[in-house]
Amino acid sequence: VAKAKAPDKWVRTTCGYCGVGCGMYIGVKDGNAVYSKGDPLHPVNMGTLCPKGLSEHEMVRADSRVPAPLIRKNGTLTPSGWDEAFSKVSAEFKRIQNEHGKGAVAVISTGQLLTEEFYALGKFVQLGLGTNNYDGNTTLCMASAVMGYKQTFGSDGPTGSYEDFSKADVILLIGANIADNHPILKLHIAKNKKMTGKKPTIIVVDPRKSKTSQMADIFVPLKPRSDLALLNGLCYIIMEQGWEDEKFIKERTNGYKAFRKHIMNNYPPQEVAHITGIDVKELYNLAKIYATADAAMSAWTMGVNQSSIGTDTVSAICNLALITGNLGREGASPMSITGQCNAMGTREFGFTSSIPGYRNYASAQDRKAFADIIGVPEEIIPTKRGYAYPQIIDAINRGEIKALWVVATNPLVSYPDQNGLREALKKLDLLVVQDAFLSDTAEIADVVFAAATWSEKEGCYTNSERRCNYAKRAIDPLGTTKSDLDIVLEFSKYFDGVHEMLFKELSTPEDLFNEIKKVSKGQLCDYSGMSYALIEELGGIQWPCNEKAPKGTKRLYSEEMPCSTPDGKANLLPVDWQPLSEMQCKGLPLMLNTGRTVEQFHTRTKTGTIGILDNLAPEAWVDLSPKDAAKLKVKSGDRIAISGTRGRVEDVIVKVSETVREGNIFVPFHFNEQLINAVTIPEFDPKSFEPNYKQCAVQLHSAAVP
Ligand code: SF4
Repeated sequence: VAKAKAPDKWVRTTCGYCGVGCGMYIGVKDGNAVYSKGDPLHPVNMGTLCPKGLSEHEMVRADSRVPAPLIRKNGTLTPSGWDEAFSKVSAEFKRIQNEHGKGAVAVISTGQLLTEEFYALGKFVQLGLGTNNYDGNTTLCMASAVMGYKQTFGSDGPTGSYEDFSKADVILLIGANIADNHPILKLHIAKNKKMTGKKPTIIVVDPRKSKTSQMADIFVPLKPRSDLALLNGLCYIIMEQGWEDEKFIKERTNGYKAFRKHIMNNYPPQEVAHITGIDVKELYNLAKIYATADAAMSAWTMGVNQSSIGTDTVSAICNLALITGNLGREGASPMSITGQCNAMGTREFGFTSSIPGYRNYASAQDRKAFADIIGVPEEIIPTKRGYAYPQIIDAINRGEIKALWVVATNPLVSYPDQNGLREALKKLDLLVVQDAFLSDTAEIADVVFAAATWSEKEGCYTNSERRCNYAKRAIDPLGTTKSDLDIVLEFSKYFDGVHEMLFKELSTPEDLFNEIKKVSKGQLCDYSGMSYALIEELGGIQWPCNEKAPKGTKRLYSEEMPCSTPDGKANLLPVDWQPLSEMQCKGLPLMLNTGRTVEQFHTRTKTGTIGILDNLAPEAWVDLSPKDAAKLKVKSGDRIAISGTRGRVEDVIVKVSETVREGNIFVPFHFNEQLINAVTIPEFDPKSFEPNYKQCAVQLHSAAVP
């Protein structure tokens, strides 16, 4: 750091972008964040950061920050005071709920808040506003992992640790482009070679030759959305060849007989080869490598989750691990990798798909336990989950939901079928957006609650390996912005008796954290043994952390730790592949796949403000195979349009690339200028409600072929 710019102090914290959860330091000079560097002692990243982490301080004072609340007056968003903003929104919420019922107000949050903020927000929405129509944008990325884990193990919870990447003999990356999306995880794989002297076999399963495939010893370029069939086919071969772990199956699983019958009747290798495009010999090779490894790790992310059969595909990954005994041991776990920095925090305490502490809405015992701990009447705990994100949008369309409060997410870039979404949002009486940045969604809001951002507030983020990390406040919030926690606490005072009932003794993040500890005590996601001081000292703590495991727990479901099912055994579930609902046809000859690039994060509200990142990836592009490029008479650098049955995207630059096979294209979703979600399909997993962002039929329009 040049002397003139040398920070006055360094504040130890956690990266606020992705679910890897890297430890870092913020350099502070004259009250501003001026530098970011990795924490060499943090076990996740050991001093390194990806390009986003290294430039994170730059977004904190970006021009697109909202320094004060905004209220739309005469059609223009106008700066206001907090009292005016809270008064207006609370009056409208009350009017709408009086006229149309409590559920007519809905809330969509995020994976970006701190755990204490999620917890307070969920408590306020569900118990204070009394609406259970509350969900997070985490449903757009992680919901299938949640539901898959629940149906297999009886509870959500990533089973392993990053350390397992360093200990596995085989690493199966399926639908996981970690090189772009979770780059620091590559360190743990690299460490594997160093420590054991023996290189692990890396298998990458992806229809696209992503950057991650370059790490692969075996690249499996299967047909789009055939992963579940592949997994079932591998199980067939393993059971046919007698490579399964009989002892583990007998002692640790339920349902083997029915599972085996289903697989052997429906997924013979020839059939699986036909569905996946992977030949039979290669299927046998893959099955043998995975099944005969001492320790096999499987990891997945959006390529699996973002599918209308995502939940069952997650269970299929778990089935493969279970029949080979790859659970609860070093290097042996089926591991979901989360998207946002605190997707896990919202899963555990967000009050969306479960009551905080992984409790069930449907269980009277769970509702009573939670109500007793936090000192509220049991009757106000919802007896069922309300609408999930896509159901909220449908209910707005039907006129059932009249007010929407969007917290730190940007549906007007991230949600599928953008034209349908815009039509729905027009029907609202009130749109409130709470964000640190003037996002695309904030721009159309009636009221904007101006939030503080990363480095301006404190609390915890939990990463993909269940590690609760502490994020420290380094600088003062911009203008009159407030932390998301303070917004919730103060807004709750505008509703009679709500603040007194829910937050009387709670005013700081640590107060909320202490309540979370009580709420989670004895549950799988047990935080009761944690404290801010201990988290800082240890570089994060993996839950469960309690008297039995005072320094946390590296992996779930080891021999000593039963699953959360009634008998403590994992469920081997027969799950089925299904063909795509929207296939290529004469008018729509190409299959669109969407995803991400390492330089950008989500909808670019943050990374779009950082010059170096935006220069590296300034706009969307379309990867097009050489054969398709020839058919369309286009070359790299040309500009084309992409259209489907729901919309059209103009002016997308062409990259002719061998990374996609003929008939398939790839476009990153981050960019509002080339809004690829105008084309994507509003098709959802019926169990998780996660959208299928990965396959829809499109055509391209070039100057030569309009
Ligand atoms: Fe931040 Fe994720 Fe990059 Fe780590 S890998 S620095 S957590 S964005």
